[in-house]
Amino acid sequence: MTISFDLAGKVALVTGANTGIGQAIAVALAEAGADVALAGRSEPAETLARLAATGRRTLDLRVDLSSTAPIEGLVEQVLAAFGRIDVLVNNAGIIRRADLLDFSEADWDAVLDTNLKVLFFLSQAVARGMVARGSGKIVNIASLLSFQGGIRVPSYAAAKSGVAGVTRAMANELAAKGVQVNAIAPGYIATNNTAALQSDETRSRQILERIPAGRWGRPEDIAGTAVFLASPAADYVTGQILAVDGGWMAR
Ligand code: NDP
Repeated sequence: MTISFDLAGKVALVTGANTGIGQAIAVALAEAGADVALAGRSEPAETLARLAATGRRTLDLRVDLSSTAPIEGLVEQVLAAFGRIDVLVNNAGIIRRADLLDFSEADWDAVLDTNLKVLFFLSQAVARGMVARGSGKIVNIASLLSFQGGIRVPSYAAAKSGVAGVTRAMANELAAKGVQVNAIAPGYIATNNTAALQSDETRSRQILERIPAGRWGRPEDIAGTAVFLASPAADYVTGQILAVDGGWMAR
């Protein structure tokens, strides 16, 4: 048996692909041979330029994934362009920070909807084709807060714990259909999402001191693991929440 990390001939759909971790994952999947559909709200010029260098086919889909409304149309557009979806990366996510006693219902709903509800129903829509073909990979982006409570981020901790739970639930039901579902739990990665933490000198130093690897993560640190989980080499890996965190959880 040959061990393969090759994604040639595969089609990937990556949400939140125009910035940070999602962009790094989209580029890495294309470098591994996949054609890539990008779903996000922001201008994708930088992502498209990086993807062009890989020579793979790309599809730019501007879509607001704060509700389930656009899911059906999104999947139809990818199928119309590429005919199939072999790899789904559920990366789109938001965070809202506020003291627990002041935390609003709006911030609860927004985070749960984008980070968890849309993740599940997009996976469901894409999994129908995967199950019909008897193969597919779903990679969810979880968080250290899938395991820990955090401070001032209760809806994010709830949503990301939910991502871990739904990853196992989907993996369990889809394993016999040839579909693997896993999650990556990034540690502290330098992106827009963590810009406020990075610019807070005290907090940033405290975080750095607690990371055994002695540095913040880079989006590419997550992308390598995503390629592995999307590849045939991971055909027997399912239902895992894999921390990629410079050793944070080992401490
Ligand atoms: P970014 O803020 O750069 O990325 C978040 C992405 O989510 C953006 O590309 C954004 O797309 C997309 N997104 C958010 N809301 C919507 C929406 N309504 N519709 C469509 N797309 C949306 O930060 P990161 O790269 O860090 O975050 C990526 C993922 O990694 C998130 O799920 C985050 O929770 C997770 N994560 C990050 C960690 C870190 O330390 N950075 C740690 C643990 C987890 P657009 O701008 O186009 O709307």
